Amino acid sequence: MPPIVSDMSLENKLSILADGAKYDASCASCGSTRPNSGGPGNTASSGICHSWSADGRCISLLKLLFSNYCIYDCAYCVNRRGNDRPRTTFTPREVADLTVEFYRRNYIEGLFLSTGVIRDPDYTMEQLIATLKLLREEHRFGGYIHVKLVPGADPLLVEQAGRLADRVSVNIELPTARSLKLLAPDKGREAILGPMGQASRQIAASRAERRKNRKAPLFAPGGQSTQMIVGATPENDRTILLLSESIYRKYALRRVYYSAFIPVGRDNRLPMLVAPPLLREHRLYQADWLLRFYGFSAAELLSEEQPDFDPLLDPKANWALRHLELFPVEVNRADYEMLLRVPGIGVRSARRIVRARRTGSLGFDELKRLGIVLKRARFFLTARGRCLGEGDLAADALRRHLLAPPGPKSTGPRQLDLFAPETAAAQARQQALTGEI
Ligand code: SF4
Repeated sequence: MPPIVSDMSLENKLSILADGAKYDASCASCGSTRPNSGGPGNTASSGICHSWSADGRCISLLKLLFSNYCIYDCAYCVNRRGNDRPRTTFTPREVADLTVEFYRRNYIEGLFLSTGVIRDPDYTMEQLIATLKLLREEHRFGGYIHVKLVPGADPLLVEQAGRLADRVSVNIELPTARSLKLLAPDKGREAILGPMGQASRQIAASRAERRKNRKAPLFAPGGQSTQMIVGATPENDRTILLLSESIYRKYALRRVYYSAFIPVGRDNRLPMLVAPPLLREHRLYQADWLLRFYGFSAAELLSEEQPDFDPLLDPKANWALRHLELFPVEVNRADYEMLLRVPGIGVRSARRIVRARRTGSLGFDELKRLGIVLKRARFFLTARGRCLGEGDLAADALRRHLLAPPGPKSTGPRQLDLFAPETAAAQARQQALTGEI
């Protein structure tokens, strides 16, 4: 049994346990409306924690592991039992005090608290709950808290955690039960889906209750999310996206986060990667966006014949090239749902078009004045019957146009730049902000 409390300095603990948490991507903090109770912190008043690091991950939360001891040995995890590294554990009071201190100094707007499994799932969950209780009840901290639910924890503990947190998450980790059994043999699929299902039911019940009674207790008002590791196992993009679609539907998740597998040690069950598959992660985020906001289904985007995304083309352009019989669409007549399927037209542009054409017909000049970016859309649109692209192009020729790097004067986005991780992350961030694919 590992020591539960070490005598290491707080500074060293912070350095080890913040480092151990950086591999968890599931920490964006939108969507919570916990009322302020008179203490420090407020989820509603500050635009809430939307800050992103250079690699596209959220940084404005204090992102910590409670402990990096773990009784489990998941092959892909830096904190697994068999990995030789410095170990330590916070006390609940240390995490609560750190959070409030950092908040007061304006370093952070909330807390993201995950952990390794110490002793057993229930004991671990109790430590997290004790931390949240200190924050909410003693410090009266009203800021954002995202807490991990420990797979296999008692439902009563899951309930207590959800009552104290703004968002909860339990990581689904891998796309299939088979892969989970291979790489994380201590964590059964049921131990993960149990808390996910409970959280989903309690979030829905709490929302319904609060529609009737505004003082009814909250349960994770920011919803729940999960994370899936991409590239550690052989599943294709289709399997991953079908799973995401199904858990969005079944558990009403706010977000599925995709985390490119980062090799953190040698294990012959894991692939030998030279670098994390960041571009694949990016394509999955784009496709996820299409599922949630553009009306696409996973089966439309990928098929058994083409089960992986084209690394060079975004998933919507890829879909359009396979459905040229539906294009070009006339911008003055196409319904909103079809406009959303035009490569380069996002939610904001489609709304602008629908609004503007109520007062008159639109040509390409009007579209430009509306701020519609036609670089890709021009190949798939007509305006007043006129085509701005190169006429009747075959899929191969169109693909070449979509991939062509812009000329020296162009400042438009370049498909091929997506190979640069910083650019991919910047585009993902831009996409997250504008919703335009
Ligand atoms: S249970 Fe979590 S912390 Fe422990 S080895 Fe598995 S992934 Fe890592």
